[in-house]
Amino acid sequence: MDAELKRTNREMQNAAPKLLTVVAPVFNEGDVLREFYERLLKVLCQIEMRYEILFVNDGSEDETLSIIDKLRDHDPNVGVIDLTRNFGKEIALTAGLDHARGDAVINIDADLQDPPELIPRLIEKWQEGYDVVYATRTDRRGESSLRKFSASIFYRLIHWSASIRIPRDTGDYRLLSRRAVNALIKLREQHRFMKGLFSWIGYSQVGIPFEREPREAGSSKWSFWQLWNFALEGLTSFTTVPLKVASYVGALTATCAFLYGMKIIIATLLFGDPVAGYPTIMVTMLFLGGVQLLSIGVLGEYMARIFDESKKRPLYLVKTYLPSESNTPDGEQ
Ligand code: UDP
Ligand code: MG
Repeated sequence: MDAELKRTNREMQNAAPKLLTVVAPVFNEGDVLREFYERLLKVLCQIEMRYEILFVNDGSEDETLSIIDKLRDHDPNVGVIDLTRNFGKEIALTAGLDHARGDAVINIDADLQDPPELIPRLIEKWQEGYDVVYATRTDRRGESSLRKFSASIFYRLIHWSASIRIPRDTGDYRLLSRRAVNALIKLREQHRFMKGLFSWIGYSQVGIPFEREPREAGSSKWSFWQLWNFALEGLTSFTTVPLKVASYVGALTATCAFLYGMKIIIATLLFGDPVAGYPTIMVTMLFLGGVQLLSIGVLGEYMARIFDESKKRPLYLVKTYLPSESNTPDGEQ
């Protein structure tokens, strides 16, 4: 009897359509939000899953939030997490993953650079048993060649130096299974290099190629300075190679200095002490000073991160959380 009850229970669970959560962090996306929603909805209506769309309003200063409110009036499957200020995309995404209840969770940019039409293919792979299905861009249309170049250098560098494999040309557009999400939200570091974290969790991962569209409207919020910091973030959170480079450069310089010192001592003993070489002293001093400052800088980058992590602040604060109907509220954070 008991066993039979268990079996019917399991059968019922299997029969119930699974829930898909689409997490979209939004920051001043008022211009594209409606179009994004409509395109997304068209796709979601075609798949055989229940769905919820979870917007994370990352401190937008335009009409983004009021548009989301209007969408919620018509569509009970839309939920929104309103953060207290702008926390940055990575943290907004984390807030979304924390609140997502889906059996599968897709995170997607709201600026339509990630085509929602790809979702059925992502789901297909998930149904085949993959835990992480990411979309790999085959083309970076609409981006300047300088940007393409710097992106390519960055991917190469991180590939070479990090001990984990981060797939190239992959953004944050991906589907995660429930257990992958559970693994990911256990990682609470302040400095969140999502691409790295996605790879770090492991599980079976697979990529799907797609052509990335240029932005539909608005502009990318990434300045070059931010991109540089992003790259620094990636390198410092996933590799200690810069620290090693500093030690090796130090060791090399010390060896050279020792050999050169020996040469000077021997020359002085053999040939006496001619007029001291001012240029040699200057060059040596400046070089050593440079190497030292650089190494201290590298140390500082790591130390600043230790400082940030040691404060143990919450990653984000939620002003209001209005869940979709397919989700139950579990208290504010
Ligand atoms: N975004 C966010 N907070 C930010 C910056 C961006 O939530 O501080 C959102 C933005 O609304 C968009 C997504 O993150 O949905 C990607 O942003 P963007 O297009 O600026 O980045 P890119 O496509 O250049 O990586
Ligand atoms: Mg974008």
